[in-house]
Amino acid sequence: MVPPNQKDASRPDTAAKNEAFKLLSDGTRLELLEALWESHDPTDPSPVPFSDLRERVSADDPGQIHYHLDKLTEHFVRHSEEGYELRESGKRIVRILLSGTAIDNPEIEPVKVDVSCPYCGGQTIYGSRDGWRYIECTDCDVRCVPSFPPGVISMSEFPPSGLWDRTPNEICLADWRWSAHRRASVMDGVCPECAGEMPVTSIHICDDHRPDWEEYQFCEHCESIFRMLVSHVCEQCKYRWSMPISNYLTSEPAVTAFYYEHGVEFDYSTPEQFSLLLDVEKELLTEDPLHIRITIPLEGDELSITYDDRMEVVSIERTG
Ligand SMILES: [Zn+2]
Ligand SMILES: [Zn+2]
Ligand SMILES: [Zn+2]
Repeated sequence: MVPPNQKDASRPDTAAKNEAFKLLSDGTRLELLEALWESHDPTDPSPVPFSDLRERVSADDPGQIHYHLDKLTEHFVRHSEEGYELRESGKRIVRILLSGTAIDNPEIEPVKVDVSCPYCGGQTIYGSRDGWRYIECTDCDVRCVPSFPPGVISMSEFPPSGLWDRTPNEICLADWRWSAHRRASVMDGVCPECAGEMPVTSIHICDDHRPDWEEYQFCEHCESIFRMLVSHVCEQCKYRWSMPISNYLTSEPAVTAFYYEHGVEFDYSTPEQFSLLLDVEKELLTEDPLHIRITIPLEGDELSITYDDRMEVVSIERTG
């Protein structure tokens, strides 16, 4: 454990953050970062001589270029006798600019994709709305978590760079996989945005769960098709993620082994296998302490996993 005072000391203060942002508010400095990035070979990193950098930027006064490079060496660039190179922080800045996450988020026309709705088997489309990418069913109004619009099966912040050189089906699959790995990180308590602590903050259990498939395709009481939803919030950056409790089965080796023994190579990063977990049974065993049991029935066998209020596994039982 890191002592609390040391923990705080490692956190950048607001003045330092402002200073780092100010450094980037200059065209020549951005050109220099871009030039260093273009010269950067990940398999053979070596510093770029000043003369090479000078040729790549529009400013031509050497004194001015040196001035801006000196500014950048405070945070983003390393200077040695051989020349200049990006620090990891500098590479992160360039990657953010390249992926377009922070600055532009192109809307894309909704397009049909080869993924069946896991809830009704209907046709899905892939599109974007208000900065989110979504996979949406055109045949039902299923609601997974209360914040999802009706019919939306998945929502993600898939970066614009993921759209390049991919067909709509390839984008949809890449988004699904990208999101699955981020979700795995959340379930392990590590924020996929900033790597901060991201503990379970609530487990919402609907007391009177009655999803009416014919009428609403979700439950009127909890506004979700899922009876139990787990939320995590990052303690550093406030990033929030809510998901059905059955998702936690995906990170349990006993579950992977159980499916494997029954001839299913369980890989949750594909849309096809998402529906496997829709039929598991969820049971509230005790409220204090909170114990929840999830049971997977498969060909006469059953695997039950019991979780506590932090979604830690309490016990695993196998019958059949
Ligand atoms: Zn559907
Ligand atoms: Zn409900
Ligand atoms: Zn975070």
